[in-house]
Amino acid sequence: MKLAILTDIHANREALTAVLEDQAARGCDAIAVLGDIVGYGPDPAWCVDRVRRLVAEGAICVKGNHDAAACGPGAPMNPTARKAIDWTRTQLDAAQLEFLAHLPMTADLGDVMLVHASAEAPADWIYITSELKAVGAFRATRARVILVGHVHVPLLVSAEMSGTVREQKARSGLPVPLLRSRRWLAVVGSVGQPRDRNPAAGYAVYDSAANELTFRKVPYDCAATARKVRAAGLPESLALRLLSGD
Ligand code: ZN
Repeated sequence: MKLAILTDIHANREALTAVLEDQAARGCDAIAVLGDIVGYGPDPAWCVDRVRRLVAEGAICVKGNHDAAACGPGAPMNPTARKAIDWTRTQLDAAQLEFLAHLPMTADLGDVMLVHASAEAPADWIYITSELKAVGAFRATRARVILVGHVHVPLLVSAEMSGTVREQKARSGLPVPLLRSRRWLAVVGSVGQPRDRNPAAGYAVYDSAANELTFRKVPYDCAATARKVRAAGLPESLALRLLSGD
């Protein structure tokens, strides 16, 4: 299986389209979406419909904190995120909200676990921003590979059987062998609102036959998305963030 891992799409139609083209061109035969289909961006309805179609075709999708906030009270959010979620709600119909409400919190694919934030307490939306923050996730599941999003900055961590964790360098575009003597946690970068100082859309490919993970970055027309953010009356900081990738 060559699994394309997409996360934090954040209602960015142009970025999602570019990533779907890229993964198809790389011969991926399965797709996992790790949540936050909506929030921040200007095309929530289109993105929910697109992911719904992917799921109908066999993709797996788990729930993110913005998806939860769009269809229920959700967890507390900063004022910018809250403003965008309040607007997002006005853009989604009952069926789209229903789809978000019924997304599972986690999914298992054999020895791979998928979750938006952390395996430790999926509904607490913990940010795995360092190797030490990954310790709880490794303890909470026996999965050999844990794939998460939520942070918008890619990170790769491995754990020895003794429990010692270590950050692993991973350059985008270069496959990393996921040695079987260790366990692995990858924080996959965001499709629709990257924060790794590179505005190109982020995603990752897990090749189970080759046992390799590759982070990828795909340039897209972020200026077009930023114009839509402004036209929708969403906060200016959300437009600027797309242009800087930060
Ligand atoms: Zn997010």
